[in-house]
Amino acid sequence: MPVTERLYYSDSHLIEFDARVVDVTDRVSGWTAIVLDRTAFYPTGGGQPSDTGTLNGARVVECIDDGDNGVLHIAQGMTPSLGDSVHGRVDWSRRLDHMQQHTGQHILSQAFINLFNAPTKSFRVLEASCEIDVDLNNPTTEIIERAVELANNVVWEDRAIAIRNVTSTEAAELPLRKEPARDGDLRLIEIEGFDLTPCGGTHAYRTGEVGMIAVRSWERAKGLTRIEFVAGMRALADYRRANKSAREVAALFSTGRDDAPQVAAQMVEEHKELNRRIRVLEELAAEVEAEKLLAAASEGVVHQIFDNRDAESLKKLAHALTAKPGVVALLASRDKDTARLVFARSSDAPGDMSALMREACATLDGRGGGRPEMAQGGGKNITHLSEVIATAFQRLTVKK
Ligand SMILES: [Zn+2]
Repeated sequence: MPVTERLYYSDSHLIEFDARVVDVTDRVSGWTAIVLDRTAFYPTGGGQPSDTGTLNGARVVECIDDGDNGVLHIAQGMTPSLGDSVHGRVDWSRRLDHMQQHTGQHILSQAFINLFNAPTKSFRVLEASCEIDVDLNNPTTEIIERAVELANNVVWEDRAIAIRNVTSTEAAELPLRKEPARDGDLRLIEIEGFDLTPCGGTHAYRTGEVGMIAVRSWERAKGLTRIEFVAGMRALADYRRANKSAREVAALFSTGRDDAPQVAAQMVEEHKELNRRIRVLEELAAEVEAEKLLAAASEGVVHQIFDNRDAESLKKLAHALTAKPGVVALLASRDKDTARLVFARSSDAPGDMSALMREACATLDGRGGGRPEMAQGGGKNITHLSEVIATAFQRLTVKK
């Protein structure tokens, strides 16, 4: 089988071409793998995803590098036959996006070497961003931003990017950024006066085409620093998203985007302070409420069903009640569609709260338990709430 001439090697901006079909294989998946005598389609490899596009009326959804067998164009629709002449068209916006990310990676990786002697160990173009794993031990905002600044200066200097084909002997004499991944003749990508590295991907003509490089985040991973970045149109899309969410957050605080972090931090502090004050006031309120309930109770047994009171609030009230001698508190709440129970007694009062709670929870189809002086629980069978409180009250008063 003839080797596919890879047109993308010599011109990354060539998106339309004519070719002849030299092999067609129907796949089990219902798709067809097509091999051409020449192609401008870049197949997945080197961290860069494959191109998509059309071959006559067929849709090319992916391209796979099959080594010496050429490039497999995975197509669906009106696929061509063996020997057909086809007109290929590569999706330009996807190609441009990949070139911006890929060329941006060359520049950012060299910036980390240039400034911090930190080489890139791997690279991935993801759905919306990209990742490089850099051998950098101490990533700080200042270190990352210095590399970003140098990288963007190289972009805006609009340096030329050249392709150099050399032999391995010639390459051995050159200051390459990374070791070649294969033997034999090499394809080098040279960013004028900045970077020289072997690579088989598609790159911008000049650095200016990358537009901008921005780092979104970084983290330590497996002894390296994983840096998430975006270049070109992805950087603009990311800026738009970030700006939108920053403005939405600012609007919640009725302030401008740049003032939002300070206003938000202030509000978080106020919120904490308010919670502290609420807790103090709740204690006071529970004491007052306990006095009222005790005044109305018979034989020191307080039994009461509340609406929309959470377990914490019931416990506070139970505490306030049982701080007095000789008191038993049977407290319940209809909290949304759940019944909540807290049974408690003073240390000198009679009764096993845990046993009473287990009995009550069985009727409520729920769960609960605790100690003889204090138990809590709940259940879903909220209609039996009055009944279980009455029963518990009866148990205590009959025993006396
Ligand atoms: Zn490259």
